[in-house]
Amino acid sequence: MRPNKQELIEMLRVSGEDELQELYKRAYEVKKAYVGTKVYFRGIIELSNICSKNCYYCGIRSGNPDFKRYTISIDEALSEAKWCYGQHYGSLVIQAGERRDDFWTNYVSELIRGIKELSDGKLGITLSLGEQSEDVYQRWFEDGAHRYLLRIETSDRELYKSLHPADHSFEYRKSCLKLLRKVGYQVGTGIMVGLPGQSLESIADDILFFYDEDFDMLGMGPYIPHHGTPLAHLREGFDSAAALTMGLKLISACRIALKDINIATTTALQALHPEGRELGLLAGANVLMPNITDTKYRDDYQLYEGKPCLNENADQCIGCLARRIAAIGETIGFDEWGDSKHFYKRTEKQKTAKGR
Ligand code: SAM
Ligand code: SF4
Repeated sequence: MRPNKQELIEMLRVSGEDELQELYKRAYEVKKAYVGTKVYFRGIIELSNICSKNCYYCGIRSGNPDFKRYTISIDEALSEAKWCYGQHYGSLVIQAGERRDDFWTNYVSELIRGIKELSDGKLGITLSLGEQSEDVYQRWFEDGAHRYLLRIETSDRELYKSLHPADHSFEYRKSCLKLLRKVGYQVGTGIMVGLPGQSLESIADDILFFYDEDFDMLGMGPYIPHHGTPLAHLREGFDSAAALTMGLKLISACRIALKDINIATTTALQALHPEGRELGLLAGANVLMPNITDTKYRDDYQLYEGKPCLNENADQCIGCLARRIAAIGETIGFDEWGDSKHFYKRTEKQKTAKGR
C-alpha cells in the first residue's frame, strides 16, 4: 500500500526522547520481520576524487582547488579488493567523482573484471560513479557489477536546481535511474536530509518517490556543510545532534514505509557521532559500508567536514567492528552478497541471495 504522506510527515516530525525511541523501535520491528537482523558489509573504495561536476554542497566539486586530485592505480585498488575478499566482506562499493571520458570507462571496466577474477566471481560489486550513458552502464554490468547507487539527492526539481549549476540536469539524473533498471542492476537511490530549503513535506515526497519508482536500495544521510563550497556559511549554527536525529528518523520512516529494501547506514552518520552507524542499524538500516580506501587518500576525499577515520584504518579492524555489531545484538553476513530482498520479489527471480 502506498504510504500515507501525512503519516510520513508525522514520523519525520517526532521529537522528544521517548517518542524517538518508539519510532526507532517500530522501524526495528519492521526490519526484523522483513529483512532480519543480519548486517551486510560492503567495503568502500574511494577510487578517485576527480569530478567533472560542481554540486554546491560537495567538498570534492570541480570548483574546489584546495586539495590534491588522485586516482588510485588498478594494482592498489585490486589489493584493497583482495583485502576485502580476505576479510569475507562479500561485496564492495566503488565510489568516485563523476567522469564520462573513455579512459575512465575503460579503467573502471578493467577494475571490475580484475575484482571478479581475483575473487573467482564471488565478490559482489556495487558502483557509485554518477550519471553515465546507457552503453556505459551496460558495459560495466556485463563486466560484473550488479548493483548501482545513484542518489537523486532530492526529488524536488526546484530544490535540486537551487543546489546545482544550471548545466546539471535533474531530468537526466532521474532518467539514469530508469536506465540502470533497464540494464538489470539492483538500483539504489537516496537523498541528503537537512538541505537548505528542504521541508518535511519535501522529504515525505522523496519517500513517496522511492515507493513509486520501486527502488531496491537506499543510501541516505544528513547533509553536512563543507568549507570549500558555496554553502560554507551553513557551517555556522550547524547542529550536528539535530542532523543525526533527522538522519535516523529518515531511516526509520523509510523502513516502516518501504519494508523489504536494503537501507545503508552511512558514513555521514558516523561523522556526527562515533556510533552513528550502529544507531542507524537500530533505526532500521541493514547494510554497512566500511571504508577500505588506503588512509593516504582519505584527506583528499572529504565530501563534508568531520569525515571519520582520516588517519586510521578503524574499519579495517574487523574484530572491533564485529564486536560493535554483536554488542547491539546483530550478526554479520560474512561472504554473502546480501542482495535486496525487494529486488528478488520485484523481479520474481528464484536466485539465491547468497553469493557463494
Ligand atoms: N559522484 C557520484 C554522485 O554524485 O552520484 C558518487 C559519489 S558522491 C561523492 C556520493 C554522495 O555524496 C552524493 O550522492 C551526495 O549525496 C553525497 N554528498 C556530497 N556532499 C555531501 C555533503 N556535504 N554532506 C553529505 N553528503 C554529501
Ligand atoms: Fe561530483 Fe558527486 Fe560531489 Fe557532485 S556529489 S561534485 S557529482 S562527487
